[in-house]
Amino acid sequence: MSEATVLALAGDGIGPEVVAAGLAVLTAVAAKAGLGVRVEEDLIGGAAFDRYGTFCRDETVAKAKAADAVLVGAVGGPKWDRLDIKGTPMEKDGLMRLRKELDVFAGLRPARSYAPLLARTPFRPALVDGADVMVLRELCGGSPFGEPRGIRALPSGGEEGFDSNRYTTAEIERVARVGFELARRRQGRLASVDKANVMESGALWRRVVAEVGNSEFPDVALNHLYADNAAYQLIRDPKAFDVILADNIFGDLLSDLAAVFAGSLGMLPSASLHRLPPAGGRSGPGIYEPVHGSAPDIAGKGVANPLGTILSVAMLLDYGLGRPDLARRVEGAVERTLGEGVLPADLGGTARSADVTRAVLAHLA
Ligand code: NAD
Ligand code: MN
Repeated sequence: MSEATVLALAGDGIGPEVVAAGLAVLTAVAAKAGLGVRVEEDLIGGAAFDRYGTFCRDETVAKAKAADAVLVGAVGGPKWDRLDIKGTPMEKDGLMRLRKELDVFAGLRPARSYAPLLARTPFRPALVDGADVMVLRELCGGSPFGEPRGIRALPSGGEEGFDSNRYTTAEIERVARVGFELARRRQGRLASVDKANVMESGALWRRVVAEVGNSEFPDVALNHLYADNAAYQLIRDPKAFDVILADNIFGDLLSDLAAVFAGSLGMLPSASLHRLPPAGGRSGPGIYEPVHGSAPDIAGKGVANPLGTILSVAMLLDYGLGRPDLARRVEGAVERTLGEGVLPADLGGTARSADVTRAVLAHLA
């Protein structure tokens, strides 16, 4: 009997390659633990557009809502990025639709250093050894969704492109609470990022985060940083950070930046949740995916780093299926794989995706 259902949406580019690796690990760890997991597969992104004329079908949304967790590869590529499709962000991007439909506003993007990869980073090892940061990115608001938006012709000639970075009190409060809660479960420190000095949405962000902190989480050390300074400090001294709370755009930038001390963008996992799971429970349907995109430059070559997706499977086991014990087993297998020097090209090695996945599977035992 199945105790859990996982919807796998491989997507485009290297998506199918890394999702295959993730599913192999999920299936193996579940079998060893006697956990029944039913995997359903569907299309998203360009793959869905080519087949159905839409980037994410209603049926796919329904399947995602009914699942315990959704594992996604990546979406997009030059073929579809070039199409001039009119519509809302949700009509133009299958993943954005899925995030909005599941209301997974809390994007957890952990980045840590790995001892065997220290020499692969551009930093002095002592600077990054032990770095362990959780970027919490707001995922359902801000300028990626805000209206009005568009490109319009100007009477004076030329055009104007415009976006709206909108955040309501309620949107800020709910993501701030997740940030404070995460900090409580970690080292008790939260750095909130904004541009309150030049943006009204940033001024409200800063005020609301401070109010939530004062009234509900006085035990968490809260610090406000301007986003530009946050980017600088994150690279100058990553170990100074515990949880970083940021809006949709700043969180996107800062999580790619944090990938530098993890060794590669290919290492970073994510969990996009509607809520943190209660103790011993499940979060409800969330999206688990690597932070990287579809990497068209290396797609189909069998060299993509599958570890970001495999570590996303660990987050899926932890938050989605309520099995932190199995999550730690997967993370341990990844660490032992790195430790024995089975490294893909982005980490300076020569291992192919399949070699890396095989090594992780072997270390699961
Ligand atoms: P990208 O993350 O796909 O690639 C950036 C660089 O990192 C490339 O050099 C790529 O080869 C490398 N890289 C990424 N993942 C890797 C992995 N697992 N192993 C080894 N190397 C890896 O970003 P991009 O090139 O800016 O975007 C490509 C496409 O992906 C675009 O269509 C973009 O819209 C889309 N995208 C999708 C997502 C998503 O699905 N969540 C996120 C970002 C970008
Ligand atoms: Mn990104």
